[in-house]
Amino acid sequence: MYSSKKRGKNTYHLFSKTESLNRQFEIGMEMSGALEREEFAVYYQPQINSLGGHVESLEALVRWAHPTKGLISPVDFIPVAEETGFIVDLGEWVLRRACQQAKLWQQEGKNVKVSVNLSSRQLQEANLVQRVKSVLEETELPPRLLKLEVTESVIINDLVASVQLLKGLSDMGVVIEIDDFGTGYSSLSYLTQLPVSAIKLDRTFTAEIVSDERQRKVVESVVKLAHALGMSVVAEGVDSVEKLKILEQKGCDSFQGYLFSKPLPANQLPEVMNQLQRKETC
Ligand code: C2E
Ligand code: MG
Ligand code: MG
Ligand code: MG
Repeated sequence: MYSSKKRGKNTYHLFSKTESLNRQFEIGMEMSGALEREEFAVYYQPQINSLGGHVESLEALVRWAHPTKGLISPVDFIPVAEETGFIVDLGEWVLRRACQQAKLWQQEGKNVKVSVNLSSRQLQEANLVQRVKSVLEETELPPRLLKLEVTESVIINDLVASVQLLKGLSDMGVVIEIDDFGTGYSSLSYLTQLPVSAIKLDRTFTAEIVSDERQRKVVESVVKLAHALGMSVVAEGVDSVEKLKILEQKGCDSFQGYLFSKPLPANQLPEVMNQLQRKETC
């Protein structure tokens, strides 16, 4: 049996493997038209600097506002989009949207970075560097305001190609971060070959940090090593003050999680950013 979260409620719906495949097929069929029908939206989640409530960047997270099924989580459609290859078009659409939005924020005097997730399929595209360059030129966003998040499994699959690709992006001035660190191979040594600015500790990596002494020790040593290698550390899934305090004490440089804000539509961000800033000065 496969389980899938029922939208909007805290209940779970169990369905068989066949139903699951049917559902995936259905999602796959509907997805391509959804881009033209403008059913996708980009939400943004703040990443906070440890020096207080300063929002240093916002992660772009895609949502599908389905006409009958409601808001669909990327967890449910990104894997299908990767399978069908649709992620290449969708990913470029998210990138363009996020860069346009970051440019608007820059024009309003908010010097905030935007970070965009890249899937393995996008990294396999021969012209990825050129595509990113075109979007930056088109939107007139300074490359230093764009961060790209890649997962470690993608890099390990093809280290040689990844080195070249990430160098190409980083030479343009784009910032590279390793997403979901701690869920896979989790070796920092290979990252020394790459132009990586930061690692993002997956929320499962720090989930028990308040109660689990061993987890605290692991996080502490990973942070030390990352710093020694010149990378900063972002903690994901920061959902309580207790967690924040420990992660801050263990040396994490920035924080993202429900404690600060859930991912929100762009128009709700200015208010949240102001609130976070006010909290800091109180
Ligand atoms: P991710 O890149 O690791 O993004 C962080 C996920 O953790 C987001 O889920 C975010 O809403 C969630 N999160 C943040 N803080 C908390 C917290 O305190 N507690 C809990 N329980 N969750 C928290 P979301 O938006 O559902 O996205 C899930 C994944 O889907 C992302 O994980 C990313 O891998 C993928 N994704 C989302 N948008 C895109 C996209 O545009 N392109 C690609 N390739 N993947 C995307
Ligand atoms: Mg991410
Ligand atoms: Mg990710
Ligand atoms: Mg992550």
